[in-house]
Amino acid sequence: MKKKVSLKWKLARTFLLFTVFLLCLLWVFQIALLKPMYQSYKRKTIENISSGIIQQLNRSNINDVIYDYSVRNDLCIRLMNSNQDVIAGNVGCVLYRLSNQDILYQGELAQSNGGRYFYQSNQNANYQTMILTSVVSANNQQSVLLVSAVVNPVDPTIQTLRMQIGYITVIVIFVVLLLVIWLNHTIVRPLDLITSEAEHLARGYYNPTFSADDYIEADKLNQTLISAAKEIHKADQAKKDLLANVSHDLRTPLTMISGYGEMMIDLPGEKTDENIQVIIDESKRLTNLVNDLLDYSKLEEQKIELHQEKFDISQVLKDVAKKYEIYQLKEGYQFHLEIPEGIIVYGDSFRIQQVLNNFIINAINYSDKKKQIDISMTLEEDNNVRISVRDYGIGIEQSKLKDIWDRYYKVDKQHVRFSHGSGIGLAIAKQILELHQVAFGVTSQVDVGSTFYFIMKRCK
Ligand code: ADP
Repeated sequence: MKKKVSLKWKLARTFLLFTVFLLCLLWVFQIALLKPMYQSYKRKTIENISSGIIQQLNRSNINDVIYDYSVRNDLCIRLMNSNQDVIAGNVGCVLYRLSNQDILYQGELAQSNGGRYFYQSNQNANYQTMILTSVVSANNQQSVLLVSAVVNPVDPTIQTLRMQIGYITVIVIFVVLLLVIWLNHTIVRPLDLITSEAEHLARGYYNPTFSADDYIEADKLNQTLISAAKEIHKADQAKKDLLANVSHDLRTPLTMISGYGEMMIDLPGEKTDENIQVIIDESKRLTNLVNDLLDYSKLEEQKIELHQEKFDISQVLKDVAKKYEIYQLKEGYQFHLEIPEGIIVYGDSFRIQQVLNNFIINAINYSDKKKQIDISMTLEEDNNVRISVRDYGIGIEQSKLKDIWDRYYKVDKQHVRFSHGSGIGLAIAKQILELHQVAFGVTSQVDVGSTFYFIMKRCK
């Protein structure tokens, strides 16, 4: 496994490596390559100037051209043929000292070398001279063109640079060390603070006092951890509530089942259909509760896959509503259905039924005295259908509307009617609707009622 290093060392190492790299570059270019680069620059210059003059040889004012080139580039230039001998440049320059004989000799050398001959005096000498001789023809005459440059000695410059770079190296390393210390203080210290607070969080202290806000990223991390702490606290609390609820919800039907069972054994006269029905109902309640818990954990771990296909949602709504007729008969609930015929949608009909069941059971549970429940489907623009379950019951406070979709959340923890309630019905519905990627929501007003809805695309 790769060895992990702390951010402190990473920063220090990166900065030092970068500094060493920059200093090396400086050494290589300023010291090792200065001389060859300068010489090659000089050679290029005289080559370019030669070519420039050769192109203008036929001009009548070639003397001026040569003079101009020599002054502007600090060069010595000489052009010689049988009619003229133009020399321009510093009077002391080497070309003034060459006799006609010497020039002709240079011309011959160039001739035998393909028209050009480059000469450079001893490279180790203090002052060097470069001469480029070209044999050219102008106005039907053969001419010899010599362009010469003095290569100034760079050794003293290199000595000076070496000294300067030495100082620069020391100063830069010192500044980089200070920079690393400062960065450590401003970047690493806040992270260390946040880490130690996060460790507290891991040990179950949910009220961290994060305080590192030196820069935006640390502040963001801070805020994220604070909200994570709140969420973890909420989830932890909700889990505790769930455990209490589930144990309560499990104990109630279990007590009923065993109580009725024992009573029927002890008192043979109590073996009535009603008492058996109580045992059956309570067992169903248990099964529902356990199924919900299993479903939710599967949905949470994303182990549930949708089996989507086209189905008749009108029929599904009617079938689901029919199951609740028993509430009409036994407890006087009024179900108002407003369902257009033959609407086809694409989705997992089993899971959509689960959502509808949750909405309807909640409507029953929280209806209070106004026992009317409207189950409707309306056609909307863009081929959408809105499926709603409305009750006229206790309603939900606006501030709680967002939370009711959270797992284990109950608006009123003391609410006694738990025919189904584990606090995860809406969390399951939310997961299913999100998997279907459909819009859903709730509108509600306290003591007026609630409408839970989702919107699906209608298939053609
Ligand atoms: P529960 O099993 O407690 O009903 P749900 O997840 O189905 O759990 O609902 C979460 C909470 O949302 C409920 O405890 C209740 O406070 C609130 N709630 C859900 N549906 C309604 C409704 N139709 N009217 C009022 N409150 C509701």
